[in-house]
Amino acid sequence: MAVSSHHVVLFPYMAKGHTIPLLQFARLLLLHHREQPTITVFTTPKNQSFISDFLSDTPEINVISLPFPENISGIPPGVESTDKLPSMSLYVPFTRATKLLQPFFEETLKNLPKVSFMVSDGFLWWISESAAKFKIPRLVFFGWNSYSSAVSIAALKHRPEIDSQTEPVTLSDFPWIKVKKYDFNVSDDPKQSAPAEELFMDQIMSADTSQGLIVNSFYELESPFVDYYNSSDRPKSWCVGPLCLVDPPKPHRAKPAWIHWLDRKREEGRPVLYVAFGSQEEISNKQLKELALGLEDSKVNFLWVTKNDVGEIIGQGFKDGVSENGMIVRDWVDQWEILSHESVKGFLSHCGWNSAQESICVGVPLLAWPMMAEQPLNAKMVVEEIKVGLRVETEDGSVKGFVTREELSGKVQELMEGETSKTLKTNVREYSKMAKAALVQGTGSSWKNLDLLLEKLCKST
Ligand code: UDP
Repeated sequence: MAVSSHHVVLFPYMAKGHTIPLLQFARLLLLHHREQPTITVFTTPKNQSFISDFLSDTPEINVISLPFPENISGIPPGVESTDKLPSMSLYVPFTRATKLLQPFFEETLKNLPKVSFMVSDGFLWWISESAAKFKIPRLVFFGWNSYSSAVSIAALKHRPEIDSQTEPVTLSDFPWIKVKKYDFNVSDDPKQSAPAEELFMDQIMSADTSQGLIVNSFYELESPFVDYYNSSDRPKSWCVGPLCLVDPPKPHRAKPAWIHWLDRKREEGRPVLYVAFGSQEEISNKQLKELALGLEDSKVNFLWVTKNDVGEIIGQGFKDGVSENGMIVRDWVDQWEILSHESVKGFLSHCGWNSAQESICVGVPLLAWPMMAEQPLNAKMVVEEIKVGLRVETEDGSVKGFVTREELSGKVQELMEGETSKTLKTNVREYSKMAKAALVQGTGSSWKNLDLLLEKLCKST
């Protein structure tokens, strides 16, 4: 291990979509720093193997597990990450429970070499107290992009109008953007929304006491929104991505069955739609059946990665009926490897920010089907702002609303073969080039941002 005077602590939130980019950030720090820092990643026992596997090429990064709290009401024993929760409605108690890690975290910090700075997930609001106690400069990472933060902040000025009317409201700070209530996915049930809002406020207040935010995005993708955010008196945000581009090529290993299938589709000259809704998908059986029928009607070739047992829910007949056109996979896959495959020409995605940005980086247009969190805003950005995708509409316009097979098959065909698909492809390829340029050593905007940020942080330690 390189001897270094700098020691960086990372504490990701226990969700794959939050953990993966912070681990990629750890890699970027190793690549970037002239003098390699020592890096320690904190997690919990049931998340350790995922993290260690992900970082298997960088054994110099230390991983420390703290015992995850037990006997939390509503959280089944042994569940230590959001993708294992029976429902995402348990997000608040699950996240609140992480505060019980604080004494273990602080006890461990006492015995670690001096920490130069830490990067903690914004969801783990309580870490601000630990950082203050130990006088450690702290950056925060939320996993979202600047567009969704800026639009949410700009919308606060219009909140009563947005809440009360169904017509879209024009944002005075971004006059070309109209928003509606459903863009913000706030629950109408105060029993659900009050604890979530309270937690959110704690997270925002904690982030406000940090030295800055790191954002997994790049300036050229969303410059008006980065500038808007940074014109406030909040801690500055630093775009240092796209972090997915930092991963090294995977070592040679046996190809999984779905990559063989994609290879076959390449030989047949058949473009493939990749269908996946992230690590926390929650789709009702009724919607799942309709989705399957929509895919079947569209007649496109598709690779569908899902946690659900499609054969059991929809019937083996569906699987047999689409066996030539479609492949359904229930495993954890290397999504980057799939998206980078030449056969993949479209991505039906929930628009989790990692998935959306990965698609942009490889130049694959998106069909956005947002389902929760800030995904509706990501979808809006993809479709209206940077114009690299289309969107499926629900019957009643709400985020949780029902999508019919006709709507889905029509949009799938439009994405894969329609007139607009050419423009989407051209746009997404342009952004893909800009994404790569952002991380070029020495000259890329994200690379230079990290230079400045590290200089600022390390000067003070
Ligand atoms: N992912 C993956 N394999 C899977 C499922 C997900 O590699 O089988 C990765 C995906 O590439 C992305 C992350 O997990 O980096 C999911 O993050 P995203 O923001 O897209 O969605 P979330 O899971 O947070 O809803």
